[in-house]
Amino acid sequence: MSTFPISDFRFPIGRATRPMPGVPTRGAAKPPGPAWALWRWATCALLCIAASGALAATNLVENGTFSKADQDKLPEGWYCRLADYMPKEQVNANGIKSYRYICGCGQDLGDVKPWCGLFCPKCKGFIGGEESGDWYAKNHERVSLDGGAVKFTLDKSTGENQGVRIFSHLIKVKRGWGYRLSFKTRTKGSIARVFVECFRYPDKVKSNVWEGAHDPALGQQAAIEKSYRGHVNCGSPADWQTFTKDLIAPKRYEFDFITVKLYAYMPGEAWFDDVVITPMTPSEVEEFRSKKQPKDDRFKYR
Ligand SMILES: [Zn+2]
Repeated sequence: MSTFPISDFRFPIGRATRPMPGVPTRGAAKPPGPAWALWRWATCALLCIAASGALAATNLVENGTFSKADQDKLPEGWYCRLADYMPKEQVNANGIKSYRYICGCGQDLGDVKPWCGLFCPKCKGFIGGEESGDWYAKNHERVSLDGGAVKFTLDKSTGENQGVRIFSHLIKVKRGWGYRLSFKTRTKGSIARVFVECFRYPDKVKSNVWEGAHDPALGQQAAIEKSYRGHVNCGSPADWQTFTKDLIAPKRYEFDFITVKLYAYMPGEAWFDDVVITPMTPSEVEEFRSKKQPKDDRFKYR
């Protein structure tokens, strides 16, 4: 470890005191150091090797076939135990308003909005970065493995309110590339939707840090922000139906990380299987872009 000082990222210069474990903190606005550059270079090099060689068609989604279970009999590689938060307004003696972010389990997560990929230090749930309070505290109890697929079971209240959702591990991708999602689903009573939440490092490097557990893809633990979302409305197919979606963001919204979010609502059951994400070839990306001619500059592809 002495030759690769990644621990530098955890204690940015400019903080007088060591931050509390498990609380995102604002660091000094400090440019990335050489270790950051090395890390990014190594990650890019690995991605390039993987994408250019025989591994090009490898599924980037771990356990997308739901063939592996963890010790809780939940799908390995997927986050089923979720932790979300709500901002709690505080007013100081001078009438200045600020917020603290409180996990659904009651844990105070600090005064910096937690980003996707972190784990609550108390309930150990995965933080997807959305404000949903304690809606998903029992989410994992409604998820099971069933005949090599993942199954959601939604009672009346869950189905008519928050629904059930699980997240894949964060996947580090190459900014500006295109990715193709495919999966299959079937339902009984419920309605299925699949989202691909896409994130990136902020344009201006902020050194917000997190001392606690996090998705390994985050590496140096710098904050990420949501920049794009792919969305597939599947309806209620009674038999297995396969869906595909190309993930190519307009230039302004390009991304560095993705997580697949499987979601179902309305009382009943929903199954998902064979979730695959692969990089698109340059010609596939070019074909996609050539069909889009956005009038608004903000949505220009390149
Ligand atoms: Zn919690």
